Amino acid sequence: MRLIVTEKNNSAKKIAEILGGGDAGGDKTFKVPYYTWTDENGGEQMSIGLKGHVLGPAFPEGYSNWQKTDLHDLIDAELIKEPTDKNVVKAIKKVAKEADDLVIATDFDREGELIGLEALEEMLDANPALGSREGTRDGTLRIKRARYSALTKEEIERAFANLDELSYPLANAGAARQDIDLLWGATLTRAVSLATRRFGSNFLSVGRVQSPTLGLIVEREMERRAHVAKPFWELFAKFQHPDGTFETHHATDKFWEKAEADAALAGTASPGAVKSVTARKNTRKPPTPYNTTAFSTDASSRLGITPASAMRIAEDLYMDGFISYPRTDNTVYPASLPVRDLVSSLVRVEEFSAAAGLLDGELKATRGKKETTDHPPIYPTQAIHPGALEGPKRRVYELVVRRFLATFSPPMITESTRADIEAGSQTYFVRGSVVVDPGYAAIYTYARSSDEEIPKLEEGQSLDLDGDPWIVDKETQPPSRISQSKLIEMMEERGLGTKATRADIIQKLFDRGYVYSNPPVPSETGIAMYEAFKKYVPRMATPEMTAQLEEEMDQIVAGEMTKDGVVGDSRDLLHRTWSEIDESREDLAKVVWAGMDQDRLLGPCKVCEEAGRTKEDGSPNMLRVIRAKKSGKRFVGCSGWTADDPESCDQTFPLPQRGDVFKLEERCSVCGQTPRLKVVPFRGRSWNLCLNDDCESMQEMKKRRAEREAAKAAKEAMAEKPLSDGSEDGKAPTKADTATRRRKRAKAATKG
Ligand SMILES: [Zn+2]
Ligand SMILES: [Zn+2]
Repeated sequence: MRLIVTEKNNSAKKIAEILGGGDAGGDKTFKVPYYTWTDENGGEQMSIGLKGHVLGPAFPEGYSNWQKTDLHDLIDAELIKEPTDKNVVKAIKKVAKEADDLVIATDFDREGELIGLEALEEMLDANPALGSREGTRDGTLRIKRARYSALTKEEIERAFANLDELSYPLANAGAARQDIDLLWGATLTRAVSLATRRFGSNFLSVGRVQSPTLGLIVEREMERRAHVAKPFWELFAKFQHPDGTFETHHATDKFWEKAEADAALAGTASPGAVKSVTARKNTRKPPTPYNTTAFSTDASSRLGITPASAMRIAEDLYMDGFISYPRTDNTVYPASLPVRDLVSSLVRVEEFSAAAGLLDGELKATRGKKETTDHPPIYPTQAIHPGALEGPKRRVYELVVRRFLATFSPPMITESTRADIEAGSQTYFVRGSVVVDPGYAAIYTYARSSDEEIPKLEEGQSLDLDGDPWIVDKETQPPSRISQSKLIEMMEERGLGTKATRADIIQKLFDRGYVYSNPPVPSETGIAMYEAFKKYVPRMATPEMTAQLEEEMDQIVAGEMTKDGVVGDSRDLLHRTWSEIDESREDLAKVVWAGMDQDRLLGPCKVCEEAGRTKEDGSPNMLRVIRAKKSGKRFVGCSGWTADDPESCDQTFPLPQRGDVFKLEERCSVCGQTPRLKVVPFRGRSWNLCLNDDCESMQEMKKRRAEREAAKAAKEAMAEKPLSDGSEDGKAPTKADTATRRRKRAKAATKG
């Protein structure tokens, strides 16, 4: 029997459908599905899917006590492989015993090679004969590798007709990264958590890639804070025209002195005369084929889908066989891609018919900077009616199709016109722009710019002013925050993370409360963590170390370094890093603590604000997280409260007692009344909490909770009194009940 092992169940099923010609049957072992069929020569075939990594590196027993383990010992610990999914491991071992040949058909990249190798080691353990050449027809290995970039019939048949061998250097590069990430993550997370005395679920997470990524966000925030707004003035005037009045801007972009703007205004006189009209054609080139970064930034900026979700959706579309493998650096279509067939089937779908004209000529695609041979750029593998897909999947599929068609399309041509008008001693101008030929923007509609038309103007034409010119006060703005998609681009430029991990690393920063909101804003804890690293452990704050590691990975692939060599070097560096932290642990802790203190301040108290109460220095009273001394319970109270002043602010709000809470907004964008928090429970999904009980954003959740409580109460009542209808006892608490109770609890906590 020939056993085919894929990365996920979906791809095992798809391959069975394609190679089995629709005759494949399915069954399960240890709850893991597998598929069987007979090929045309009577050979038995089986495919089974893993769940991505089913084994991962781990510390052996004896290193789990944070306070007793010496970190230098932890750094030198010999790592073991631990199953992350026991059922899958049991299942592949069982089916491997019956296999004569093996095809590793995991995803075609470094990660996929490693996943394949992990599974292979387990299977060889169950059936060592798979590792020998003896008894094979031509003396070749019984273990083969299928490499494919799309789950389509042509691509799968091509891959299985050209089976290759597993690349150990590629797998080892992936394994080295895993080991290094575990060693650095575990050591530094413990080191910093110990230094700051944060134990249990309150630990402070540190990561080899995570910390420099946080640094990018913090550095920008610091620039914003250092920004000093500088005032400037702009001057505008309106002129009359037979087509309607139109607005113009003074030829001086910004006046830095108010007096100059005033003088320019005084020097403006009616009528004005058109001094010059110049028109210029602009050609915008069509976009290049999609790699992972361009795709995820586009999904974010054009569709408003975060990079992490865009990748998840793209993976689903790949598994469904609708698009090619979405993790790729390549931006040049390979010559083997049947572009004419693809384009002609795509433009038959009504939504994409705007590109039908492409078939009239030669299909020549744009090319990006990077050309690799592993995967093609992301392209649609199948023409389907987008209406057949749901929600964001539909929009992402459309984006991939439209981008693909755009890469074969002509440029977009626009014409911009500028007219200068002299009025008294002053010159004003107006600018317009119209699309002459939409070119690629006809199909890639996201890129189409809207027309800004101006009236028809001729040189020498006289125009009356429409009313008086006017001045607008403005001030310079700080640099804007980095969007998630821009952050992914910046990480790529600096060699931070891989195309497979970048989106997840950003998500982790959110999960640990180092950043919040969108675009990400660093919390004070996040800023303090980064500042502490920059000062005491600079190599954790900058991208150089990680970029160096990426280079060493490439050397493993090229056979110039071994996995042990790279991991060993990294352990040496980690010993030095830990010593540095240890020497400055007290100073480092102080910086981090100060940041965490700041984060307990959630936002200004609205009640005090309305009553005109402030701190002595005039700054606002702040709502903050307080822990009651006796009960140890936490709640939110106002810094304006003093025990001996009955007039002081007694605003309090209850907080959930379990899980971490992070500031989401100083003032809720839904109700505008109170701060809004993110609650991250130890288990399960995080949720947003507006302290204002009546906030619209809380109603849906409260309704669901009331329903759950009602159902639970009804069930209990039924159990106690099987004959009663339970209507009395099972009544859901009303909103008022809950609110009063919450207030009482909060008061109790305050007093406690
Ligand atoms: Zn207050
Ligand atoms: Zn609210």
